[in-house]
Amino acid sequence: MKQVKKAFVYRIYPNDLQKEMFAKTFGCARKIWNLMLDDRINSYKQYHEDATPIKETTPAMYKKDYPYLKEVDSLALANEQMHLRRAFTNFYRNSKTVGYPKFKSKNRNRNSYTTNNQNGTIAIIDKQGIKLPKVGVVSMDYHREHTGKIKSATVSQDATGAYYVAILCETEVEAFAKTNSSIGVDMGIHHYVVLSDGTKIENPKYLKKDMQRLQKLQRKLSRKAEIAKAKGIKLEDAKNYQKLKITIARLHKRIYNRRHDFLHKLSTYLIKNHDVICVEKLSVKKMLESHLAQAITDAGWTKFLALLKYKAEWYGKSIKEVEPYYPSTQICHVCGSKESKKALHIREWECSSCHSYHDRDINAAMNIHQHGLAI
Ligand SMILES: [Zn+2]
Repeated sequence: MKQVKKAFVYRIYPNDLQKEMFAKTFGCARKIWNLMLDDRINSYKQYHEDATPIKETTPAMYKKDYPYLKEVDSLALANEQMHLRRAFTNFYRNSKTVGYPKFKSKNRNRNSYTTNNQNGTIAIIDKQGIKLPKVGVVSMDYHREHTGKIKSATVSQDATGAYYVAILCETEVEAFAKTNSSIGVDMGIHHYVVLSDGTKIENPKYLKKDMQRLQKLQRKLSRKAEIAKAKGIKLEDAKNYQKLKITIARLHKRIYNRRHDFLHKLSTYLIKNHDVICVEKLSVKKMLESHLAQAITDAGWTKFLALLKYKAEWYGKSIKEVEPYYPSTQICHVCGSKESKKALHIREWECSSCHSYHDRDINAAMNIHQHGLAI
């Protein structure tokens, strides 16, 4: 048994008063984030100008100037401070891939705030509501039982206007049975992944269809925006535009959910069936290749790797990451000789030393497998 933190997400249905409180809290959380970010930026400037030590502000310091901050859940504000700190740490650690923390605008696609459970301030009531600080009991669709102790709750509202709560619980998970098996995974361009046992896993077809539909609707949306502009109508008042915007937000959500589902199933399948999973570390080059091939997988890969890693950790399996510069597509996995670089369109090739015939991606997955096991 292993102690882990697991999130459970539920749709919630606040009443009008609760909606008002959520809107206020989203606003205050955003305000605190922006104030702190602004002060932090200024503090850095000062540091560079006259070596004034960098100081970190706290939410309490702003309550005098902005008394309305006192009206909302103070833990929501404290969590913004933590999130901002994490955003900076993340930026300094991976500045090549992670951007500088940004200001949050009012017209975001998603609003949210996080609060903590302090001796039962957050609780599930009769499997039909959730008690939240300053808000009271909000009606919820408790479609699946949560396990463990509730640590925190994140309330969010998406672009379609729907509300959700994600509760983070401290719970225990049991390791999966050992299988004495290992595998190599090549994240492909023509396939989602290719495994060293020869399995090729396709991108889900519906995803491609949905993405095409999304692109079409987005073009339509920009045309509607132009029409409104030509007629001198503000976008907020352009009904057709707003309606289409919600349709697009719904489609986005559906794509997100389906991709999420696909990645979850695939990662669980690998973790259940293998003790060691060898993968290639994500590289900018690979991401670019995927853009070139107009694949729709790039965002999914980062998430896929993250899912594999935490599931391995939870269920007692291990992930071996092969460096991205390892030439997995150029080496013959049979005799180990290294061939010249191969253009993306070459899907099959013959080794000039041992004359083995290779499927490009399966050979790459086999190399990742061998190389990963040797680490
Ligand atoms: Zn060979």
